Amino acid sequence: MRLIFLGPPGAGKGTLAVRCKDLLKTPHISTGAIFRDAIAAKSPLGLKVKSIIDAGKLVDDETTIALIKERLSQEDAQKGYILDGFPRTIAQAEALETFSTVDKVINFDIPDSGVIERLSGRRVCRKCGYNFHTVFNKPKKEDECDFCGGEVYTRDDDKPSAVEKRLEVYREQTQPLIDFYRKKGLLVDIDASPMVDEILVGFKKAIGI
Ligand code: AMP
Repeated sequence: MRLIFLGPPGAGKGTLAVRCKDLLKTPHISTGAIFRDAIAAKSPLGLKVKSIIDAGKLVDDETTIALIKERLSQEDAQKGYILDGFPRTIAQAEALETFSTVDKVINFDIPDSGVIERLSGRRVCRKCGYNFHTVFNKPKKEDECDFCGGEVYTRDDDKPSAVEKRLEVYREQTQPLIDFYRKKGLLVDIDASPMVDEILVGFKKAIGI
């Protein structure tokens, strides 16, 4: 199944994707994670996008579309995928239509207050990408991932000044995709406010498994 996870930063897209990728047997493809890996590796792509991402802005469409086009051409994405964080603009969505079909777009519905609560406490494993939270889902040992032992840290773009910018960018550039996909009959809304186990139940119902 080819799925897009759409929603504001902090809506729980990545957390749910990690929980259901084995269930669906498809790769979880997160543009944000690909960019963060490039930054950590100090590759040319990483050097190009670091300051943009730290400021909470969007990487340009041309770069992002080329990246996803290449990623979706790989063997493991041929039977389906979960796209997390792509598309984020109408131009990206239109480009995606030229190289892939989409079965469903899951819209993570959550108020701003929920987003801010999640992002302000979010801590991420540098190695496996698992999302922890300082209140709702603490790692057993401080700063250490329960699953792979990697370092657990706060993303630079989860700091308050960048969060505000990311929400503004979401409203202006990404939210219009809700109507774009609703008109195509692909959109399914899920309530993203509860804890992940409950969201998973709503998600399974939404995609009919
Ligand atoms: P995320 O992990 O999805 O919150 O993404 C982190 C950051 O990576 C975003 O705030 C953007 O700066 C950048 N990014 C991720 N996906 C995209 C995209 N589809 N288009 C442009 N920038 C993106």
